[in-house]
Amino acid sequence: MPSAAGGEPVTDAGGSVASGPVLVINAGSSSLKYQLVQADSGQSRATGLIERIGLDDGLARHTVEGREHVLERDIPDHAAAFEVLAAQFAEHGPDLQSAAPVAIGHRVVHGGAKFASTVLIDDEVLTTLRRLVPLAPLHNPGNIAGIEVALETFPDLPQVAVFDTAFHQTMPPAAYTYAVPLSWRQTFNIRAYGFHGTSHAYVSRRVADLLERPLEETNTVVLHLGNGASACAVEGGRSVDTSMGLSPLGGLVMGTRPGDLDPGLPAHLSRVAGMTLPEFDHALNKESGLKALAGDSDFRQVMERREAGDEAAGLAFDVVVHRLVRHLGALALVLGRLDAIAFTAGIGENSPTLRAAVLERAGLLGVELDAEANDAAQGETRISTAASLVAAFVVPTNEEWEIALEASRLLT
Ligand code: ADP
Repeated sequence: MPSAAGGEPVTDAGGSVASGPVLVINAGSSSLKYQLVQADSGQSRATGLIERIGLDDGLARHTVEGREHVLERDIPDHAAAFEVLAAQFAEHGPDLQSAAPVAIGHRVVHGGAKFASTVLIDDEVLTTLRRLVPLAPLHNPGNIAGIEVALETFPDLPQVAVFDTAFHQTMPPAAYTYAVPLSWRQTFNIRAYGFHGTSHAYVSRRVADLLERPLEETNTVVLHLGNGASACAVEGGRSVDTSMGLSPLGGLVMGTRPGDLDPGLPAHLSRVAGMTLPEFDHALNKESGLKALAGDSDFRQVMERREAGDEAAGLAFDVVVHRLVRHLGALALVLGRLDAIAFTAGIGENSPTLRAAVLERAGLLGVELDAEANDAAQGETRISTAASLVAAFVVPTNEEWEIALEASRLLT
């Protein structure tokens, strides 16, 4: 989880920002991450992770002022998880009553085509979210469970939903339309939606600040490379194309997800292996990507094996880089003019080897890598030379702050 932001003001964010903290909640099916974030400065006042919800041996970590407090106990459901959250704040601080959060900001993975921006949660919004579950069956149910319990636990606080998909609702029809039968598109809303929107929004805004250019005049490709990964073309602060589509499976190679595939694959495996759709779905969500190529979904482990001469890990790295270069090139052409490339999230922020491999192959775009700056990068860093026509940056993402900003802007 990213630490508190460096205190840099976020400019051009649009709208004024309420002072006071926002409690940011990212609820999954078996885990719940939270952070109490000061919306105006990004200062993180407490972070927490509650794991193994609904399984035996629940685990809760609460970090405040650099100290981690660990609690082990059964956490049978999301209601119990919120009890633990409240107890951790009560015991280790800050006291929620006196911290007086102005809102709760919930991360919601899929907002379909219904939600193009952050919304205040009411009964109608919840009903719509439940209807959207088939679009993100692995993610939205956990998000909804978190919202339902938060509404009961904190009935007096405004609660907002911030969607991973909303930032991409500015994509033009040419970018989001799939060439599939009209009835699929009309009846089932089959189209590209894109994800990691809060990260792409935050990072592209930071890039404009770092370039000292107005956001409206800055074109950036953001490479969000974590366990999930996506690339996004941001034109003047608006997403115009992205590598993920209907679901978070498409595009780049990820920890356990394959990214782009030939659409003929399910039918082929059904014919030759009798594979069922649920089996296929499971394999694509949990058994593909780095895990399939190198036996480990964790990029750092794969890099260690590659350095030790492991051939499968070497191939995995090459496939990851190839796919990244392919998407970067495509998104640069979509933008027409490229000002910057930004690397973010766990891999993007921490692997100079990966960044160098991508940028060394991006010379055609006018990028010249500053190898020394790349190797030494800590926090926000320019990693292209002064002569480079296109700038390249490492920008640590801060999705929690972006969610707090979104929530706070909606309420002021
Ligand atoms: P997510 O939020 O999508 O779960 P993260 O953004 O935390 O994921 O990124 C996790 C990935 O970042 C893992 O594959 C991990 O191995 C990788 N990573 C973290 N630190 C490093 C590092 N120092 N070098 C290379 N990869 C790293």
